[in-house]
Amino acid sequence: MAKSPEVKLAVFGRAGVGKSALVVRFLTRRFIWEYDPTLESTYRHQANIDDEAVTMEILDTAGQDDLQLKEGHMRWGDGFIIVYDITDRGSFEEVAPLRTLLEEVKKPKNVPLVLVGNKSDLDHIRQVSTEEGERLAAEMACAFYECSACADEGGAVAEAFHELCREVRRR
Ligand code: GDP
Ligand code: MG
Repeated sequence: MAKSPEVKLAVFGRAGVGKSALVVRFLTRRFIWEYDPTLESTYRHQANIDDEAVTMEILDTAGQDDLQLKEGHMRWGDGFIIVYDITDRGSFEEVAPLRTLLEEVKKPKNVPLVLVGNKSDLDHIRQVSTEEGERLAAEMACAFYECSACADEGGAVAEAFHELCREVRRR
């Protein structure tokens, strides 16, 4: 039997935007997950996407100030989720530079990417409008999701991860 395809996904974004919360939400809400303690913040996860078994390796990045580390993580990944926090404009402004770096590191390849505006439950202290998120995603030609790691009612978190897998598989 053919081995199920393996997809390496890395989650980027300013510290505090909710990367870890999103990854844990995705892994624990719908699926059984397994944490490999020898790989720091890397999770292995099996899912069925469009009736196809997919094995994901998910890297929850940290230590974002270290450029070499960041570039290493970018070289490792097949697909990327860039997260900002809708209540933190600064985190939104860090998206475009991250994407530029990704393009440089992955050149000449097209980079499978999904943009996520997290903490949508905090709408009352929002600093970035949904339209701004949509516009940025359109500029980057990628899918966009607003979601909440702590109140993921519509399943947008899983949808973002699954869409990224599809995007990787299309390339
Ligand atoms: P990371 O540094 O990007 O990995 O961020 P964390 O996952 O550690 O989250 C940073 C902080 O934001 C923590 O206090 C989380 O509880 C909080 N947080 C993460 N996601 C959400 C969310 O969707 N809504 C709210 N209200 N808080 C969140
Ligand atoms: Mg974290």
